[in-house]
Amino acid sequence: MISPVVAWTRDRTGLGDRLGPDTLAAWHLERAAAVVDRARDHSPFYARRLAGRSGSDCATRAGFERLPFTWPGDLARDPLAFLCVPQSQLARITTLATSGSTGPAKRVGCTGADLERTLAFFAQGMTDLAEPGQEVLILLPGGGDQGVGRLLQVALERIGVAGRLGRPGWGAGEILAAARSAHCLVGLPAELFHLCRTDPGLRPRTVLLSGDHMARPVVAGLAAAWGCRVATHYGLTEAGLGCAVQCRAGQGHHLRDAELLFEIVDPDSGLPVPPGEPGEIVVTTLAAEAMPLVRYRTGDLGRMLPGPCPCGGPLPLLGRVEGRRDQAVPVPGGVLTQALLDDLVYAQPGVRGFTADLERDGGGPRLLLTVDGEGTLDPEAIRAGLPEGLPLTLRHGELDPFANRGKRRIRIVG
Ligand SMILES: [Zn+2]
Repeated sequence: MISPVVAWTRDRTGLGDRLGPDTLAAWHLERAAAVVDRARDHSPFYARRLAGRSGSDCATRAGFERLPFTWPGDLARDPLAFLCVPQSQLARITTLATSGSTGPAKRVGCTGADLERTLAFFAQGMTDLAEPGQEVLILLPGGGDQGVGRLLQVALERIGVAGRLGRPGWGAGEILAAARSAHCLVGLPAELFHLCRTDPGLRPRTVLLSGDHMARPVVAGLAAAWGCRVATHYGLTEAGLGCAVQCRAGQGHHLRDAELLFEIVDPDSGLPVPPGEPGEIVVTTLAAEAMPLVRYRTGDLGRMLPGPCPCGGPLPLLGRVEGRRDQAVPVPGGVLTQALLDDLVYAQPGVRGFTADLERDGGGPRLLLTVDGEGTLDPEAIRAGLPEGLPLTLRHGELDPFANRGKRRIRIVG
């Protein structure tokens, strides 16, 4: 079955059956031209950043690629300077956790129309995972009336699906009890993986993972334990939450191409990388009313896969998101990332979860992994994937994956 995102893209772009990589690329540049002019004319930030630029710079892809980037730091410094509408028109303002421990937080505002577009994309994407009359258990962090979980619940209502929100403070027991009646579970990869190792007898039909790194052993382990289809989603609050989702072919992610323009650039030079090569994901929002972003450096690492998708979708796909640029911790012999550790540790049989501490007090750095699970770990297999010479200590510990909700990262100690 072809991804429902394809039909949505055909409809929203107006390209219909003519939708293909070339027609979409031309349509993207036309839209980008309008965004550049509007952002420069209406937002104080872009009046400066895009001074002397105009939509005509987007006549060619090369011209578009010469436009200056927008950085997360720009957004953190003065979020209100990005607004293209009066503040009174904002329907939702999200404050984002910063990647570091200091510095101002990024804030992202959107209008009712922006929210509506996100709801429409959620609803369309979820038709591939649940049918009318079924129930989806939503386990995403961030509660409240305008939290992402609530938005997903509203979107599901529109396609006749009951969305049930997990409660703050629920632990594995409460979630597993609630999950028995759910057709589909939506949540963070590490949390759902912990659940599947705690109760492999649960039988959801589908699982949608979002919000953190998608380690291969986590995705494969979930599908094997519960005998279900697992799809991964890539989202970004700055770009309207929903950005890309896998279809039943289980390969790349179908992009929200009718409202977002994605590029992959070399993280250091900022130059475009060829399809299939890894780089940093850059996004331009083509429909955002409140806070349009031009060439926004997401900090997420990934690659574009050439289409078509085996499902029949004609467009390039976003491959697996391979971690974050700013979370690479330099150590002698290389760099350490949570993504690397996820791939290594979750591949060990019986692991339910783990935390990583890099201890730097006295002498060189040492890695301490606290692993929750049953079975015997193979330290050599883990060590073989680490930067050479990094001392490793493994210890067992009971962990509660629901205690610190959100993106997991290596803790630096000392
Ligand atoms: Zn597909």
